[in-house]
Order: sequence, then C-alpha cells, then structure tokens
Amino acid sequence: MNSYDNIRYVKGVGEKRAELFRQLGIESVGALLHHYPRGYIDRSNPLKLHEAPFDRPCCIKAKVFSEIREIYVRHRMTIYKFFANDGENNVEITLFNQKWLAEKLEFGKEFLFYGIVNRTLFSCEMSSPEIYDVTEQTVMPVYRQTAGLNSKTISKVIATVLQGFEPYDPFPQEMREKYNLIGLKQALLGIHFPQNMRELEAARSRLVFQELFFLQTGILFQKETRTAFTPVKINGNSLSKLKEILPFALTEAQCKAIDDCLKDMSSGKPMSRLVQGDVGSGKTAVAVALSYCAKHSGYQSVIMAPTEVLAVQHYKTFQNILADTDINIALLTGSVTKAGKLKIKEAISNGKIDIVIGTHAVLQEDVTFKSLGLIVTDEQHRFGVEQRTSLLNKGNEPHMLVMSATPIPRTMSLIFYGDLDISIIDTLPKGRQPIKTYLIDSEIRPRAYNYIRDHLDSGRQGYIVCPMVEENETVDLASAVKYYEEISTKDFKAYKVGLLHGKMKPKEKDAVMKAFSQGEIQLLVSTTVIEVGIDVPNAVIMLIENAERFGLSQLHQLRGRIGRGQHASTCILLSDRKGDTNQRLKFMCKTVDGFKVADEDLRLRGPGDFLGKRQHGLPELKIADLSEDMELFRLAGNAAKELYATDPKLENPKNAPLKSEIASLFKTARQYGYN
Ligand code: ADP
Ligand code: MG
Repeated sequence: MNSYDNIRYVKGVGEKRAELFRQLGIESVGALLHHYPRGYIDRSNPLKLHEAPFDRPCCIKAKVFSEIREIYVRHRMTIYKFFANDGENNVEITLFNQKWLAEKLEFGKEFLFYGIVNRTLFSCEMSSPEIYDVTEQTVMPVYRQTAGLNSKTISKVIATVLQGFEPYDPFPQEMREKYNLIGLKQALLGIHFPQNMRELEAARSRLVFQELFFLQTGILFQKETRTAFTPVKINGNSLSKLKEILPFALTEAQCKAIDDCLKDMSSGKPMSRLVQGDVGSGKTAVAVALSYCAKHSGYQSVIMAPTEVLAVQHYKTFQNILADTDINIALLTGSVTKAGKLKIKEAISNGKIDIVIGTHAVLQEDVTFKSLGLIVTDEQHRFGVEQRTSLLNKGNEPHMLVMSATPIPRTMSLIFYGDLDISIIDTLPKGRQPIKTYLIDSEIRPRAYNYIRDHLDSGRQGYIVCPMVEENETVDLASAVKYYEEISTKDFKAYKVGLLHGKMKPKEKDAVMKAFSQGEIQLLVSTTVIEVGIDVPNAVIMLIENAERFGLSQLHQLRGRIGRGQHASTCILLSDRKGDTNQRLKFMCKTVDGFKVADEDLRLRGPGDFLGKRQHGLPELKIADLSEDMELFRLAGNAAKELYATDPKLENPKNAPLKSEIASLFKTARQYGYN
C-alpha cells in the first residue's frame, strides 16, 4: 500500500465509508495516517476512587460488589444500580436503560469504569460510566468523527492500513539518533495505538518535531535563496548628528535596533528586518533615525502607516524632530486633494521629497520615486504580502523594515515573519511608570467615574473605550455616540468630552485628535480606532467598557495608549462577565509585559485567531501546538539550521528524502506568501 492510495481500496472501507472519510477531509491513505487522535482516554493507568479528580472523567478499576438491582421507573425507563469496590472503597453505579451492559456485569468480576466520580461526604457514585473488560486496559484514541463514522471504526481502518505498511521515513538514521527520534512507523503506531502514555509521548514528540522541522526548513531555505544583492547602501555616518537634535537620548534597545539595521543596510544585501517592540517603546524614533541616515546616504524613504490618524501623527513627529534640517517630508494620504497629490507625486519622483509618510495611497502605481532606498511599514500585519511587494517594486532592491507594535510570541514571529530578521526593543524609555490595571464591574462604575474626574481635575487626560456591542460597525458606532451623549451631558457635564470613531471623516478625526493632543479635549470617548499608535503622554487614565469583548493582545494595545509620560497611569477594565473571561481579564491586571500577554493570548486562542484568520497564512499544523511545543520548536529549528549549514543545496544523497519533502513544502510556502 502506498500513502497516496485512495482510501476506498483499503480493506473494510469501500465506496460508502470512503464518502464519510471524505467528509472528514480524508481521501488518501497518507491523510488517514495524519488524522491524529484529538484526544485519548487513558485506561492504562486506572485510579483508586479516592484519587479521582472531581471535574473530569477518569478510569477506575473495581469489582462488582453487589446484586444488580433493576428498577422500573416508568414506561421505557429502567435503571440499574449496583455497587463496585476498588479494594478500599465502594462506589454506587447507575446505568440508564443499558440492559446489554447490565447483563454483561457479574458479581465478583473486575471491570474498568470510565466516567466522572461524584463524591460527597457520605457517598461516592458514578452515573452511566463506560464499562470495559480489564483486558482493555490501554490508551484509547478519540478521533474527530462524523455521523456514521465513529472513532472506533476510524481506529480499526487505521489498524488495517498500518499492518504490513512500511512508511518512508524522511529522516536519515543519523539525524534520528541525534535528536532522539523514534522511527516513523513506530511513531504512527504510537500515536494511533499507544500502549501507555510514555509511548504516546515518544510518538508525539517525533511527529511534532517532524512537522516543525519541515516548517522551519521551508522558511529558512526560502529566505536564504532570496535576492542576494542590492546597490543601495545606507550608512550611519550621520547618526551622531541626529542624536544631537533628538529631544531625548535613545535607549540602549533603540540604539541596538538602529545598529542592526545599519549593519544590514550597508552590507550590500537587501535588509528585511522586523523591529518588534512593546507599545510605547519608541519605534518611531528608530524610523526617524534610519530615514535620516538614508537621506544622508542619498536615498529617499517611505514610511507607511495603516491609518490616516497614525500617518498624520508620524508626519508630525518627523516634522518636529527634523524641523531644523534640510530634509523635506511629505504626507500622502487619501484625503490629500487631487491637486495636492499631483504636486507631491511630482516632488517625490524628481527627488525633492526625502521622506514620504503615508497610508495605502503611497502604493498607487503613479507614485514613483527617484531613488527609494528604505521602506518602513508600521503595524505590518495589517498589510498584505502583495502590498509589500508592490512597495518593493518602487525601488531598485530597497531595504525593508517592518515595525510591529504587537509583541508576538517568538514561535509566531518566526513563522509569520519567517523571512525577516528580528530586532526586539525590550525596554521602555526611562522614567515610565508601569500602568496599574484594575478589573471592576458596573456596580462600581460611579466610583470609577469619580476617579477619572479626579485625574481630569488635576490636569491629566483620559480615554473611555466604548462598548463593542457587536462586530458590526454601525452598532458600535451607535453605542459610542449614545455613550458619548450620555456622559457628556451627565457624569462629565463639567468637562470637555470628545468623540472619536471609525466612521468619522479623516478630517474630523484629525481635528478631534488634534484637540485631544493639545489638551482641549480632556476625556475622549472612542471606539477601538485609538488602538493604533496614538501618542498623548498626558493621557493617564483609560476605562475600557465591556472589556470581555476584547482579546488580550488588543487590550494590551489599547492600554498602551496610556503610560507614555512621567505620570502614573491607570487602566480600568469594566466587565460584568464572570467565570473564565474574568480569569482572562485578571491576567491583564497582573502583567504589563506585552510578550507575556501575547503568550497567554496565543495559549488561549490558538495561532489561527491570534493574528486574524485572514492574514496569518500559516500552513495548517496537524499535531504541533505552537504555544506548548516551544522546546521542540527550538530543537527542530536548530536541526533545520544545521541542515542548511552542512548541505545548503541538499546535494548529499543521504538527504535526498529530506530534499523531496522540502521541495513539496516550498510549493505550499510560496502559496502562503513567504516569498
Ligand atoms: P511605539 O513604539 O509604541 O510606536 P512611540 O514611537 O510612539 O512608541 O514612542 C512613545 C513615546 O515615547 C513618544 O512620546 C516618544 O516621543 C517617546 N520616546 C521615544 N523614545 C524615547 C526615549 N529614548 N526617551 C524618552 N522618550 C522617548
Ligand atoms: Mg507606533
């Protein structure tokens, strides 16, 4: 049997079952073998009654210790009750209508009972447990199933396939030894038919390693085969001059990031680097420094922001810092007039403009540069791959810097930004005070309002992030407007309250942001549009309504709008939801470290949701769990690097099987846009 063979020719499958398998996305034998169990029922290690966890099922080994009482309750309802004893304690077991099961039981005989053990002070009972013979004391796989095709049948078919099937192991012997990996056949047996948990663990780690190895190898080989040369050289000769005009001393982490970039940009190879820094870590200054150096090396730069508000803010920051220099900066966004655009475009193409700051408008075909040397994109994950490519084509192999304010777990950045080198800004500018975060419910909203008023009275500013009622802009808008009207006429009547939401015209938004940053608005009611990059250091308080509606990373982003100056800042999460959600929000109160928040977010939501379904473009991982398999991820990454270092062209015959696997992954990778 071959792993490409159609599953319907497997003994015991046939036309009808093949259709059911197809519904599970399984058509070939290979796909069947990769249909890993989604969980296991561990009957290999039965517990004593007193060891049973109270909240989840477990397996108990016990002897039937009484008569089986048959109790007729009403029409079509008979229950069976009996006691079983585990050698120490009794448990009363109840079965509903399961005559066939009851008949199988025998006084004095031992069975495995799988289910939840309910214990009170005086009794111990199990209701409708699954019952197995003691010979079935194994680990039982549980598969994703479909109507008409249950876990047991799937398991049987897999057993048939694996019998006498010798799958082709892509890992050479030497590598298996080095990384302590069991053979592929053994791993497949171990994952589908583990005798005990140890066997399962060995099988799983081999398969996870394999998956993560090929993923990282694909990315690595892809990266190393990219364009090797650029004529654009940008040096740091002018950096010291810039440091003199900056209003603050750069932090060590900022300097390091700038250094990394300058090294890349003077190397003759095009830079592709990600600067990752927590909110407020000062990424903008890095962009200023690099575009300053670009100008002094004879090149233009473009800074691309995801929203108009943010582009305008960057524009102002750049203008302020570079006011007394001969550097020309232009803002190019959708709301610039036609005539204005024409003028700017002309100035860009004849080289009069040194730094262009803009939104998607800069991607337009008729925007041409005289000598584009550096592209900076802020909040990159909002831009698609095609957009990145379209920017790259505006220059002759320009350098590229991506700035991300979303601290993401390292595993994720390696995959999502796999083709980029990474610099991390891991310290905040000096003098910042950590933001205090509290979780409250609406009963104490009046106190929170008091607290906010106190801060406004002492000259500070604040945000209220409005309830997100639904993932629906119109409804959100309505609620933000209503909220605004309500509080500006009641609780905050005596204060200058502003409103910002996504449906406002860019000009209106800009006017509001301007008023807020100049202190003319004291309290800003907003939807999540303030999420990106807004920088008003005097704003020190934020109230987030319906906090449970936000993901952890998003809350962290929002919270990053405060705590940007020398004053202590407070973030208040308001939620009436209890339970799990509450735990999640409590986590926010405990940490201000964006990377920790990101790790937790990844753990809770999984990699798919993490960056937004649409953009993440991750190849589907069938067995690896990016939040838990860090160690294997690292090991597999080392193995990938070692392979590249010792056999970069994969010419060694012993690596032939690896080569063919990698080739097929390349195809998929390209499809996913690693290129
Ligand atoms: P982010 O990394 O979130 O984009 P910004 O670049 O907006 O952060 O910077 C946040 C704030 O910190 C800004 O007000 C900026 O002027 C200030 N800042 C940046 N670098 C420093 C520094 N080295 N020392 C003091 N303040 C700094
Ligand atoms: Mg920013």
